[in-house]
Amino acid sequence: MPGEVYLIGAGPGDIGLITVRGMELVQTADVIVYDQLANPELLDRARPDAKLIDVGKEGGHHKVRQEGINNIIVEEATEGRMVVRLKGGDPFMFGRGGEEAEELRKAGIKVHVVPGVTSAIAAPAMAGIPVTHRDHAPMVTFVTGHERDDRPDERINWKALANTGGTIVILMGMANLEQNMSRLVKGGLDPSTPVAVVHRGSTPSQKVVMSTLDGIAEECRRQGIGSPAVVVVGGVASLRDVLGDLR
Ligand code: SAH
Repeated sequence: MPGEVYLIGAGPGDIGLITVRGMELVQTADVIVYDQLANPELLDRARPDAKLIDVGKEGGHHKVRQEGINNIIVEEATEGRMVVRLKGGDPFMFGRGGEEAEELRKAGIKVHVVPGVTSAIAAPAMAGIPVTHRDHAPMVTFVTGHERDDRPDERINWKALANTGGTIVILMGMANLEQNMSRLVKGGLDPSTPVAVVHRGSTPSQKVVMSTLDGIAEECRRQGIGSPAVVVVGGVASLRDVLGDLR
């Protein structure tokens, strides 16, 4: 009998923010294949005899390439084991969970998803920033700050993004922060638009940097803030002044 794979969202970092079902599956899995962004304390909850496989990124470099990750999961499941694929946040929010699920389906393996609390919403929330608000933003757009080098035809339309009238939440946004902020200004957003950067949201090392579109890159440099962080652009960012830290 082939095993089954559970793609599980580990949440943004705080161990309390994994779902009840996610935790139950972590506690019963034969194999756990995990990422750097998932809280390592979760692994203490695994069965003592569970096989733990680290395929996370380190310093921006994958320890194991995506094909390698897919192969490991397929192999473990084919051998009849119950595999938990633990991913930071939500598995289908910029986590390549969709690609992994496709590969597993192709290999004829039964796959389930357990959604997670995404950092795209949770990191701002912990910093006192609701991503929508009736007085500030009737919509929110989630975007990657790091475009695929292999698909130059799929460039993000920053001008369109600058004109949504809603909040823009950028993940993987630190490497190109300055460039992307100036793309939004060129696209028509006021340079004084509030911007918040939430680093390691929900964890004890959470840090928040507040500035504006034209000031945030410099401020992050000054404070030494890098990845992983969520960038929030729009009026909602200023709500932190009212709400303060909500962690
Ligand atoms: N699937 C994940 C996102 C994976 S992409 C999710 O739903 O949260 C990796 C990016 O997620 C990082 O570059 C960063 O932008 C963001 N991220 C993940 N955890 C974070 C955290 N605790 N605080 C701030 N940003 C985080």
